[in-house]
Amino acid sequence: MIQRTLVLIKPDGVQRALIGRIIQRFEDAGLKIIGMKMVWVDSDFAKKHYSEHVQKDFYKSLEEFITLGPVVAMVIEGVYAIEVVRKLVGPTEPRSAPPGTIRGDFAHMSYDFSDSKGIGLKNIIHASSSEEDAKREISLWFSDDELHSYKVVHEIHSMG
Ligand code: AMP
Repeated sequence: MIQRTLVLIKPDGVQRALIGRIIQRFEDAGLKIIGMKMVWVDSDFAKKHYSEHVQKDFYKSLEEFITLGPVVAMVIEGVYAIEVVRKLVGPTEPRSAPPGTIRGDFAHMSYDFSDSKGIGLKNIIHASSSEEDAKREISLWFSDDELHSYKVVHEIHSMG
């Protein structure tokens, strides 16, 4: 039940100075940040992270977007963290993301608008979508010694 997931605050979130407010939402939900760093990814690394999308029509604009500035990468741990983080983040397309979610509150862009401009969908944040993706993405972004084991107060409330 305890899962780890990879979260990226994408270049649009960093450039809009949303780092603090986004992290706050995960901490408020009782999730634990066990690793964090700022990284400016290059084209090769983008292809590794988005390997499933490299052949798709939108990949070129996605790569331009994810490499346009630094991202904040985090590993977040908690009970069903993959599912809970995705719920807090909201659907991929900000246009469809409900208020209260990170994408719904901080962005509004649509697939068709960004496609018509040939630009990446500015959707603020990435979160792993499954246990398999989380495992692959965490090992791509973080080495074992960059991940930390410590207790947060919420864990006292989880003791039997
Ligand atoms: P995902 O692997 O589903 O998280 O998708 C990765 C990223 O690719 C999303 O966060 C979007 O920025 C972008 N993306 C996914 N699907 C599309 C699409 N149909 N058109 C444009 N961008 C997309």
